[in-house]
Amino acid sequence: MPVHAQTVLHVALAVPLPSLFDYLPPAGSQAGAADIGRRVRVPFGQREAVGIVAGCGPAGVDPAGLRQALAWIDPAPLLEGELLDSVRWLARYTHAPPGEVLATALPASLRRGEPVPDTSEPAWRLTEAGATALPAMRAGRPRDLAGILHGGVRHEAMLDDLMPGWRPAARALAGRGLAEQVALPPSQLAPAPGTGPQPNPEQAEAIEAIRAADGFAPMLLDGVTGSGKTEVYLHAIAQCLARGRQALVLVPEIGLTPQLLGRFRARLGVPVHVSHSGLADADRARTWAAALRGEARVVVGTRSAVFTPLPEAGLIVIDEEHDGSYKQQDGFRYHARDFALVRARALDVPIVLGSATPSLESLHNARSGRYTHLRLARRAGTARPPRVRVLDVRKRPLEAGLSREMLEAVEYALAAGGQVLVFRNRRGYAPVLLCHDCGWSAACPRCSSPEQPRPMTVHAQGRRLQCHHCGHRRGAPTACPDCASLGLQPQGIGTERLEELLAARFADYPVLRIDRGSTRRRDALAKLFAELGERAGVLVGTQMLAKGHDLAGLTLVAVVGIDEGLFSADFRAAEKLAQLLIQVAGRAGRAERAGEVLLQTHHPDHPLLETLINGGYHAFADIELAQREAAGFPPFAHLAMLRAEAKHAEPPMAFLHAARRALGDWRRALEPANPAASDVEANGPMPAPMARRAGHYRTQLLLSAPRRAPLHAALNALVPALYALPEARKVRWSLDVDPIDLY
Ligand code: ADP
Ligand code: ZN
Ligand code: ZN
Repeated sequence: MPVHAQTVLHVALAVPLPSLFDYLPPAGSQAGAADIGRRVRVPFGQREAVGIVAGCGPAGVDPAGLRQALAWIDPAPLLEGELLDSVRWLARYTHAPPGEVLATALPASLRRGEPVPDTSEPAWRLTEAGATALPAMRAGRPRDLAGILHGGVRHEAMLDDLMPGWRPAARALAGRGLAEQVALPPSQLAPAPGTGPQPNPEQAEAIEAIRAADGFAPMLLDGVTGSGKTEVYLHAIAQCLARGRQALVLVPEIGLTPQLLGRFRARLGVPVHVSHSGLADADRARTWAAALRGEARVVVGTRSAVFTPLPEAGLIVIDEEHDGSYKQQDGFRYHARDFALVRARALDVPIVLGSATPSLESLHNARSGRYTHLRLARRAGTARPPRVRVLDVRKRPLEAGLSREMLEAVEYALAAGGQVLVFRNRRGYAPVLLCHDCGWSAACPRCSSPEQPRPMTVHAQGRRLQCHHCGHRRGAPTACPDCASLGLQPQGIGTERLEELLAARFADYPVLRIDRGSTRRRDALAKLFAELGERAGVLVGTQMLAKGHDLAGLTLVAVVGIDEGLFSADFRAAEKLAQLLIQVAGRAGRAERAGEVLLQTHHPDHPLLETLINGGYHAFADIELAQREAAGFPPFAHLAMLRAEAKHAEPPMAFLHAARRALGDWRRALEPANPAASDVEANGPMPAPMARRAGHYRTQLLLSAPRRAPLHAALNALVPALYALPEARKVRWSLDVDPIDLY
């Protein structure tokens, strides 16, 4: 390839293509290494696009044929240093298009080319004339305000506290030239740091271990539910702040509750900045910019907050590190926990992964000494671990989906003034609508195939049908489409129906339902909890209830209908179910009142249940890790899943067959020089466990290797080949490195 002397920009654009795009620098500027990380406006096809300079260098083609970038957006790089390096590493690791990765690292408004937001806040100060006039001023509100400002410039938020209704007085002063509004960096004012409970010895040991960490130090804070992990984070963050460093805290999407934020705000003595998907773009960009400028000292956020710039990083915390929401499951598939570890290493700071049910990957890393293993084996304060009992419901009549024993336990708990959580991991009214006369059932037309019908879930007391896989909705038929019978019946019980049945059975108590249907908004959950207050009552809900909520009055957790989960084929299904059960059970008895957990099942002898109940999560993890090792699954092997889908069944298969051949070509080219190549195994192509979804046929090819290096060597060769395959044009395909499930 001829090399030309002129330096051009290699620009990353948010398009699903693996390449960078070369442009001449904007008129009047030279391209140089100092431009890497700068946003630039470029012509792309018929439109204009915002790109990020990923590199500079000689053009690969005659630069005369290149288009010129239109304009710089920022005077200096927006992404630089550690964050830029880490994000580029992530692009290589995930084999994702660099433009999509760089774009993901930026808040949406910056991705669109908007300026970095102003993070300053309005404040007021006395002018020189004001200071001179003050002694002679008449008594009144303007004079009161002038007196306050005489003490120094004040943020408006602070004036709200010092002198409610200060604005007319400020206008009066400003009108006479005695005071003026100015813009200041954001106030670092926050409620004075509150004190929490005295750490118990286990907590103190963990806090000390984090304090003593020097540079990069991955730590697993493995503490049972209610053991006071959050207290440990708060102390560690306070230590980090005292050293003058920034702290980043990641929490699961569902864990970022007003309750949690309130606790952070009350304790840290600095403003707590938030970043989550429910925020307006402008607010997310403001948090990002405040962190970039070092103004934000504590950032609490969900998955994408892992891209927060941390020029003065001191600590990263990942709460509920096992949580599936840390993995982005579409588009650019990254794992925020894993990427946070990479950033912590690059930033040379400690990182604390906390969970009562650590992922088997993290547990394995802790046990093998790669992570420091901090244990909190006991509940904090006076709370005791809940008692767990299995109710065998084989051959027992069920009423409202609950056995007689379960209903009696609920009744007893309510009568004693307690709160009851009924956990059922099925949203909607009923999982199936069935014709009692001919056996027809409502299936999703977009997700079913002849071999695999997918029932639609009944909602709205039987009036509506909804597919939980693709979102497809329709009204429920009044008569059977096959036999015209009117005997259509909802089969089975979802949370909606459970709520209805329990409300009828326990009419004297409030019965509230908590699932995705009832709590679309972030504060809806808090409102529901507030509605219940301290009263005796029943909460019916899905796994939304399993996370993080501290319900002091909860004395009974009733788990119904987890049996489906016991027999899933996915390699991670057992781990997920075990985590869910422990987390749900952990909601019980978190305060003075003792808690009890009842688990209703048709499979009381299932080894997973037996191990969990008699040995706890770690006993389960021992067995599961041994099985993963024997079967060659993570953390003992590394996986990459290549998926393809299309409206017809053949093209995805053809694409994956071609991919498999390309892999074979790569391997043959290596051997015998590189025996590592034979480490990479390809399994498939085969239909995905969910073979059709939203009208698309789905297939997969699973690559695995006992070590990471050969897998990535294979992907380095394979991915560029995939883009070039003619079969690729007829499918949507994606690569998922370290998939968390195989669906
Ligand atoms: P986790 O995050 O492990 O679920 P939390 O930090 O939320 O646990 O603590 C659970 C409850 O125990 C909270 O109400 C908390 O205030 C209380 N708690 C935590 N540490 C202590 C302690 N050392 N002494 C008394 N109460 C504590
Ligand atoms: Zn019928
Ligand atoms: Zn569907």
